[in-house]
Amino acid sequence: MSIRRVAVLGSTGSIGKQALEIIEARPDLELHSILCLRNIDLLRQQKKKYLPSISAVVSPEGDIPPDIIKGTGVLDQAVEGADIVLNAIVGSAGLRASILCQELDIPLALANKESLVIGGKLLRDHLKAGKVIPVDSEHSTIERCLQSEKRPVRGITLTASGGSVLLMSVDEIRTAGPERILKHPTWDMGARITVDSATMVNKAYEVIEAGWLFENIPVEVVIHPQSIVHSFIRLEDGSWKALLGQPDMKIPLQYAMQWPDRELDVLADDKPVNWGALTFMGMNGEKYPAFSIVVQTGIDGETFPAVANAADEVAVQAFLEGRILFGNIAEIIDEVLTLHQSYSVGSLEDVLEADLNARAVASGIVSKLC
Ligand code: MG
Repeated sequence: MSIRRVAVLGSTGSIGKQALEIIEARPDLELHSILCLRNIDLLRQQKKKYLPSISAVVSPEGDIPPDIIKGTGVLDQAVEGADIVLNAIVGSAGLRASILCQELDIPLALANKESLVIGGKLLRDHLKAGKVIPVDSEHSTIERCLQSEKRPVRGITLTASGGSVLLMSVDEIRTAGPERILKHPTWDMGARITVDSATMVNKAYEVIEAGWLFENIPVEVVIHPQSIVHSFIRLEDGSWKALLGQPDMKIPLQYAMQWPDRELDVLADDKPVNWGALTFMGMNGEKYPAFSIVVQTGIDGETFPAVANAADEVAVQAFLEGRILFGNIAEIIDEVLTLHQSYSVGSLEDVLEADLNARAVASGIVSKLC
């Protein structure tokens, strides 16, 4: 049994924590490094418990012990020497890490959505080489469903839970506060992604991601409140294929870290009789105005997705701080996109520049709203 050394970037987040548990439970996985943005207390605990070779923090608040490395250069040190990198960094900051994996030719277990949404074009070589393994439950499902298919498939259908706003009226949604929005019915996730689920910006990102991962296969979305079906593919003859089970990020995480052909441990023991009724419904554009706006940026390409993402990050942060209404999030994304002069993406700098400008524009709009 060969040991695989895993770098866990974003180890203090929800995905990172679950990855550490999987690595600890498996004798064939070894923790190469942990890296976080600033949560030094949790990083210290993780270092003590899981014993990685390298522990790194990008921008710590306060003093850190000498055996934890810090600063902007730590990313390279955390990634070098790993056999596989789990990129669970939150937000656009994760793109740099993904590009680094491509440069060093290290397989990338990708839980950072923004990498493909804003920088898919920059990761083409790694995608073409089949070295980007999705951790998102929907894309992991599609990957697994496609694996044994020798014939072309007709399409991909991503499932969406509908988030915490599914049963609210359009008026209620507009003014809902963070405490209501953060109550996601089926998945337990970080704050930003929970808000992005409620606006369906998250699902729009997943449509864009699917476009990069599974080129030339049409993508649709269906609302499925129970989150038991983790997405479908539609076969040549019109029949459907899916992966089902209780929502649990450890399933796609283990799959990605064991990719392509290692054994999988049993992680779930639920049974179909416990699932209850499974229902499906079409997307309601009135409830989720941000969805089509962000999907369109994927079609328009260039810097548009990066701008939508930056505007969304600023708007979601302002919403979580109670400065704007939930309904303002889609309006802010739309307005920032309208003001943006797009250009083609040739480098990380192109993306970061668009990101920075869009943040400034979005912050200006937020200030006017407060
Ligand atoms: Mg997902």
